Amino acid sequence: MPPANLKRDPISAAAEWFHIRKAGDDIYVIEEPGHVQSYLVNGRRRSALIDTGLGLAPLKPALMELAHADIVVLNTHWHFDHVMGNPEFETIAIARGEQRLIQRAIDSATLRRLYIDACLAAGPRLPRRFAPADYHYPGSVATRLLEDGDRIDLGGRHLTVLATPGHTRGSLSFLDASTGALFCGDLVYAGTLYAHFADSDTDAYIASLKALADHDVGIRQLFPGHNRFPLSTAWLPKAWKLLEAAIENQKPFTMTTEWGPPVRRHQGDGLDLLAPVPGTEGVDLAAALWPASEQRV
Ligand SMILES: [Zn+2]
Repeated sequence: MPPANLKRDPISAAAEWFHIRKAGDDIYVIEEPGHVQSYLVNGRRRSALIDTGLGLAPLKPALMELAHADIVVLNTHWHFDHVMGNPEFETIAIARGEQRLIQRAIDSATLRRLYIDACLAAGPRLPRRFAPADYHYPGSVATRLLEDGDRIDLGGRHLTVLATPGHTRGSLSFLDASTGALFCGDLVYAGTLYAHFADSDTDAYIASLKALADHDVGIRQLFPGHNRFPLSTAWLPKAWKLLEAAIENQKPFTMTTEWGPPVRRHQGDGLDLLAPVPGTEGVDLAAALWPASEQRV
């Protein structure tokens, strides 16, 4: 047993940082306000933790009273704002094609440059007593590689893995058939959708959204990785119509260089879209994270 002060610190840090609320039938949302949100889904024997957020505070202590001891982490995709809490957990599952992208460490200087400096300058806020120099990601190893159609058994409840490529090549969504809740990561949310990465695919993105809208899939509500939740399924066509208009050049756009190489920003109905300039590769986030390596998406 660690000394009481060591045990209490992570718990109070977690309680201070995460906003945890009930979001459905034994479903909880774990918000890092202004940044990202993860979800906890409980079965009878096991809990699924869908994404692990930014790792800005210890996540596991925040779940102690809500989750089973047996927790399986399900990553919707490899981006650092969804996986940085992974190292606290033993069982981690991600799409087969993306496991190598969560293994590599990210140092504190890179995280400052890509994320933290902007938070310090203009928000969203960071935890009290946050030390940027100590903030880094040591990497994590997937213990299960997921494919479309796989089932995650939680005891009396299961999640079905749906391949929903587009935002990244290996993006997954997880469907809870018992409630019709779809945990969809960065596929769709009320905000700016990102299809401008080197491993984004706008055609696949549209196909994923259309496939989910099929009534046979049984989705009732969307639980995205950012911003408002739940969203109605009406957001699926909103997103694909914006993507279609963008790739058919039927949508006015502005240019933005906030990500380095110029990309197009398209405005839609309640959501925006960043897309690459046709004929260009888009933003290679892996190259920005690991500039000295051969790691590419
Ligand atoms: Zn993402």
